[in-house]
Amino acid sequence: MTNPGPVWPVRSASGVRLCLEDGRELIDGMSSWWAVIHGYNHPRLNQALQQQMEQMSHVMFGGLIHQPAVDLARLLIDITPDSLQHIFFADSGSVAVEVAIKMATQFWFAQGYPQKSRLLTIRQGYHGDTFGAMAVCDPESGMHHQFTHLLAKHFFVAAPVCRDDDSWQDSELDEIKTRLQQSHNEISAIILEPLVQGAGGMRFYCPQYLTAIRALCDQYDILLIVDEIATGFGRTGTLFACEQAAIEPDIMCLGKALTGGYLTLAATLTSTRVAEGISADGQGVLMHGPTFMANPLACAVAIASVELLLEGDWQQQVANIEQQLTVGLMCNLDFDHVRDVRVKGAIGVIEFKQKIDMAWMQPFLVEQGVWIRPFNNLLYIMPPYIIDNNDLGILIRAMNQGVRALDFKIKCSDPLIL
Ligand code: PMP
Repeated sequence: MTNPGPVWPVRSASGVRLCLEDGRELIDGMSSWWAVIHGYNHPRLNQALQQQMEQMSHVMFGGLIHQPAVDLARLLIDITPDSLQHIFFADSGSVAVEVAIKMATQFWFAQGYPQKSRLLTIRQGYHGDTFGAMAVCDPESGMHHQFTHLLAKHFFVAAPVCRDDDSWQDSELDEIKTRLQQSHNEISAIILEPLVQGAGGMRFYCPQYLTAIRALCDQYDILLIVDEIATGFGRTGTLFACEQAAIEPDIMCLGKALTGGYLTLAATLTSTRVAEGISADGQGVLMHGPTFMANPLACAVAIASVELLLEGDWQQQVANIEQQLTVGLMCNLDFDHVRDVRVKGAIGVIEFKQKIDMAWMQPFLVEQGVWIRPFNNLLYIMPPYIIDNNDLGILIRAMNQGVRALDFKIKCSDPLIL
């Protein structure tokens, strides 16, 4: 609050470029925290917003509905797994997670099982910054440990380590099976990020694990919540990551890229079983009603963004990014200070053995003409899908330069050299 570190004022943004107040241009490798998949200042998204603004910017969503919300709901129900037929519009990813937790809790309460109120999740997960969401983030490596004493107590098991189905071993399920045997009567749902654990460490795991989790949820009659806030809308190579495991969740959270990064909007989708189950308590409503629920501007731009995605060649774009990242980044494995390099879809990650000195690394990257925001020991990019080979090459070169400069810095162990 008193020492935010250096900041770079942005004047405008277009395509994959951020234009700084001092006239410099940076190629964006972050998609503004993974949301701006079509690039900035997109004419189609601008137009959707302008048209909606002339009709109505906002109206309350209690007792009233409007076409943008109805159309967006239909569209999302259409493209998500078949079992998801009901939708709640939330204001941010964290709130979508809160709503998912409430859905699961209210469902079991209404079924006459109020003791089924705890969640089970995997370590190194990240689900948001509000209190319900924080309670299912990794309790140790996450950034919320100072609030632990205030958080609901849920069950955690080790995150899967297996990255591909070929090396998958059933023994990875031992801990979760034991936990379920012991505690399934208290557990409402398993919540996890499918295939990619984002802000908890940019970790990837294999679809086989997710398939097995679905089977365990069925076996113990526990709901499965997939948090696709980071993975949704194509980032991992399929429209939703859970498709790679051929599973259908009971509840799915969407956010980030939903509006193409234009406005804050998120959604929690669920099945008819859960929706009807919640209503069985006689009240017939979910206990959540935020002021800006289903804001028409956000819904209108979300429709335009999803349509733009579906009409376009996102599969090829993501596949190209994946290929170029793989070819361009793997050379970094040769460095002693690099623990791992991994690529999945339009996500490229270099993991170091030690924490990155942000005060040094961030200005270094800006000097290379790119906007990449590392955290902890991770230098990673999730660029807009529209990025071309040339600009992606510049991002990759900047990452590689960062690795080399860090190597030099460590070997010389004299910060003044750089
Ligand atoms: N879930 C996941 C998987 C996320 O990556 C994030 C944001 N990084 C959230 C939830 C929280 O979303 P928001 O920041 O919009 O509240």
